[in-house]
Amino acid sequence: MQAPARDSYDVVIVGGAIYGSAVAWFLISNPDFDGRILVVERDPTYAFASTSHTNSCIRQQFSEPINVQISQFGAEYVRKFREHMGHDPDVPELRLHAFGYLYLADNEAFAAVLRENQRIQAALGAGTRHMTRDEIAAAYPFYNLDDIIAGNHNLIDEGYFDGNSLFDWWKRKARQAGVEYIANEVIAMNRNTAETRVESVILTSGEVVGCGTVVNCAGPRAALTARMAGLDLPVEPRKRYSFVFEAQTPLDRDLPLTIDPSGVHMRTDGRYYLAGCPPDDDGPVDYTDFTEDHALWEDKVWPILATRVPQFEAIKLRQSWVGHYAYNTLDQNAILGPHPQMRNFIFCNGFSGHGLQQSPAVGRGLAELITYGDYRSLDLSPLGYERVAENRPLIERAVI
Ligand SMILES: Cc1cc2nc3c(=O)[nH]c(=O)nc-3n(C[C@H](O)[C@H](O)[C@H](O)COP(=O)(O)OP(=O)(O)OC[C@H]3O[C@@H](n4cnc5c(N)ncnc54)[C@H](O)[C@@H]3O)c2cc1C
Repeated sequence: MQAPARDSYDVVIVGGAIYGSAVAWFLISNPDFDGRILVVERDPTYAFASTSHTNSCIRQQFSEPINVQISQFGAEYVRKFREHMGHDPDVPELRLHAFGYLYLADNEAFAAVLRENQRIQAALGAGTRHMTRDEIAAAYPFYNLDDIIAGNHNLIDEGYFDGNSLFDWWKRKARQAGVEYIANEVIAMNRNTAETRVESVILTSGEVVGCGTVVNCAGPRAALTARMAGLDLPVEPRKRYSFVFEAQTPLDRDLPLTIDPSGVHMRTDGRYYLAGCPPDDDGPVDYTDFTEDHALWEDKVWPILATRVPQFEAIKLRQSWVGHYAYNTLDQNAILGPHPQMRNFIFCNGFSGHGLQQSPAVGRGLAELITYGDYRSLDLSPLGYERVAENRPLIERAVI
């Protein structure tokens, strides 16, 4: 355990993975912010963080305009990463491998949803195409499309990016600029008597650390952190399985990130391929449960892959892992910004399966909120906590 250097900070961030580091970096690099920042991370190896288990893809194909806009900035940020990091020659250029997401519809109702989504995305400038089965077959002859009637695909700003480098450089540069990271755990919080402010956080090593603002970046453990301030948060850990496999005869072109109607998704992953899915019985799991289910691969995922892409009958599993989504049970969307009554408690939670790509826009937005009291670049208030308090879900129809 590391002790903090001071006994109070302007901003205390609980959790130092991609979000803790995004908020810390966007704050410390803002010339209008002159406070001190402490990032408390219970596991600096990040072995169980969502950030370490991610599939690291980005898409424009959402149904909620705010999610499209968030990812549009995400893609721009990734493409111009070095520029955004102050043209530092040490910072690498990041590539966005744009194979696109391909949503497949096997019924008219979902095809209608895809047509509507395409309209929303195109109105915001995204390159999504609604495709007939014949058009999909012409572009990607390796699919078996017998049951498919249509699909949506977008080859612009959609695909894989190196989220780990983004995280690594935000953390590194934030530290260089004076953000203090400590290996420790926040275990409780003290509130004022009116219960309108968090006054301090208590660390597992015993220190009581005063805070101007506290930011909840605790990933799947976010509800535990909120409860320390007496607040409810509908976020729970849910398992997601990833499988990397090799094909005996590789495809002759990229495999788009294909969202099969079965719920299994698959994509190109360098010279390999990556597939993922939820468990059949999807629900909350213990924070420490990362056990794999090998029957899932044999009995479900492989047969689905081989049916959709007959060339995948001959494949070899190379690697697999289980990660946790910080699953927002209300609407699977991010929950961002202050609690309406306890305004110095900032949520940065509930990203479910699309948090990595949202980190540039959300890091920037929360840094603006803390510095200026409002969002400046992109209004993230549709994702505010108010909808949780009012039980008013923001329905996103493109959830993976
Ligand atoms: C299998 C899988 C695939 C995914 N694929 C994609 C994808 O393709 N595209 C995409 O955009 N997103 C994807 N995601 C989602 C994305 O990875 C997450 O939304 C994102 O990484 C969340 O980051 P985070 O910092 O909020 O949480 P985490 O990475 O979980 O970090 C939270 C940190 O908080 C620390 N912490 C918790 N409680 C405390 C405490 N009390 N005190 C101190 N420290 C604490 C933890 O140790 C942890 O390091 C995927 C996720 C998974 C699991």
